Amino acid sequence: MQYAENILETIGNTPLVKLNKLNKDLPCLVLAKYETFNPGNSVKDRMAVKMVEDAEADGRLKPGGTIIEGTSGNTGMGLALAAIVKGYKCIFVMSDKQSKEKMDILRAVGAEVVVCPTDVAPDDPRSYYSVAKRLSEETPNSWYVNQYDNLSNTKAHYESTGPEIWKQTGGKITHFVVGVGTGGTVSGIGKYLKEQNPDIKVWGIDTYGSVFKKYHETGIFDENEIYPYVTEGIGEDILPKNVNFDIIDGFEKVTDKDAAVYTQLLAKEEGMFLGNSAGAAIKGLLQLKEHFTKDDVVVVLFHDHGSRYVGKMFNNEWMKEMGYID
Ligand code: PMP
Repeated sequence: MQYAENILETIGNTPLVKLNKLNKDLPCLVLAKYETFNPGNSVKDRMAVKMVEDAEADGRLKPGGTIIEGTSGNTGMGLALAAIVKGYKCIFVMSDKQSKEKMDILRAVGAEVVVCPTDVAPDDPRSYYSVAKRLSEETPNSWYVNQYDNLSNTKAHYESTGPEIWKQTGGKITHFVVGVGTGGTVSGIGKYLKEQNPDIKVWGIDTYGSVFKKYHETGIFDENEIYPYVTEGIGEDILPKNVNFDIIDGFEKVTDKDAAVYTQLLAKEEGMFLGNSAGAAIKGLLQLKEHFTKDDVVVVLFHDHGSRYVGKMFNNEWMKEMGYID
């Protein structure tokens, strides 16, 4: 018999899939690291379990404890799966711009969800950072995960996703492209890949309304760069400890409209039914066209599944209201 002991054992070892149509104007091979094959349908399962295990190991998370986190949904799903298998409670704090599907999904796996306004500064007491922190101070036997500054996030990708990509490409990867939010994915994978071959280029995909690109290029944290945006999962109005700017060669920004349109195109042209940050990642990769040559092997990581966006990027009424399609 061949079976996993529990659902957590099925995390990782996701496929690498060649793009065949959307990349037709590029000279190189483009391969997608297809993370929706994880049991929570996103890459974040990997870091969620690693953060829980590291917190158990050093006593921050104790038996019967409550896991508290500010999460846009995917990290919450990974944490909820770990909590079910290992016997913890979960409280998740989300901003109100996140899709209703994401909130319903987290409630389905037993979590309590608290919703906070998006349009307030991170240090405002109503922000989801502040509320998550306050709840963790008020709830007995709780552990505040803080995926932004918790370096187990980066470590998970350094130990699993990075080595998988290196092995699956037979060491032939030349470029790695990925959306950046907390920074764990880009930093962990980027560090591992550059240790194997320092010539590999790592590109982060950012969004308009986020501070990353300007900070990377100038070292200036420019508050004028910050404004509300629609793209989900990437970009920040803070500098998380998990973003290792030294291993990122460049950031490319993608508009909300392009990210939404390319989320639809991935489904229609490639049969890849994926989340909004995948649309941003593939469009950003296409914008980087002049950086690639014939022999390059470009890997792009797709974070999460399309089912979480059926009310938005896969709803043409919503797309029309936003002015993204005619
Ligand atoms: N895409 C989606 C859908 C996400 O949920 C996240 C996590 N915020 C990211 C991209 C960015 O990944 P990371 O936090 O590892 O930078």
